[in-house]
Amino acid sequence: MVKAEGVHKSYGSIEVLKGIDLQVQTGEVFCLIGPSGSGKSTFLRCINHLEKINAGRLYVDGDLVGYRQKGDKLYELKDSEVALQRRDIGMVFQRFNLFPHMTAVENVMEAPVQVKGVSKSQARERARELLEKVGLGDKAGSYPTQLSGGQQQRVAIARALAMEPKLMLFDEPTSALDPELVGDVLDVMRDLAESGMTMVVVTHEMGFAREVGDNLVFMDGGVVVESGNPRDVLTDPQHERTKAFLSKVL
Ligand code: ATP
Ligand code: MG
Repeated sequence: MVKAEGVHKSYGSIEVLKGIDLQVQTGEVFCLIGPSGSGKSTFLRCINHLEKINAGRLYVDGDLVGYRQKGDKLYELKDSEVALQRRDIGMVFQRFNLFPHMTAVENVMEAPVQVKGVSKSQARERARELLEKVGLGDKAGSYPTQLSGGQQQRVAIARALAMEPKLMLFDEPTSALDPELVGDVLDVMRDLAESGMTMVVVTHEMGFAREVGDNLVFMDGGVVVESGNPRDVLTDPQHERTKAFLSKVL
């Protein structure tokens, strides 16, 4: 579903991603861990072309992200073409960024109506189903300020799912939450994983990575240091940098 080949990304003279190679299979939960500043968020943002890569190749579902290849030349896609690629990719951030002036159900139905041209009644029905699915069937009419952080994050997940993405990207979805709210969000993500969704998850929740993850990558300094089955990497890390990191977070 995702293939990265030698992905490089720099901001000015600072090289943040120094050649990332990895592959995410369809239906897999792919966890990404690593210290602050190692490039995890940057890599996620490259996957849906919020950032342009400087070298290498990035594919989602077989399509080159942001470019079209002709012969051995790459041509940048038009904004409208990038938007088409992006609407198949759901993203959930650390901060929930819901639309504050809209209720939960309005937040969830917004993109299908505005972007896909789904009728309001159909979008509302689907939005209610999705809110039900994330355990917020009774909160459809609530505004974000009336919801806890964990509830807002579950609305954000429902909102991403409303576009029927083939891939979901999560960037530390629980790290801004009070500890007692983390579990509900992880449960929703677990259900989603069980439903077969392909997920790339940047997380500090090692329990989640161990139990739900199919693959785990440890990134440091813009490179993949170590990867493998989460249980193996977490219990028996092979590299010193992985060991040092895990000794701090586990
Ligand atoms: P964290 O765990 O703190 O979220 P991260 O692994 O997600 O860290 P990134 O946010 O990808 O790290 O940042 C990697 C590096 O890139 C950092 O040194 C950061 O300062 C730098 N960086 C990120 N975005 C930009 C930007 N827009 N302009 C300049 N530098 C940036
Ligand atoms: Mg980050």
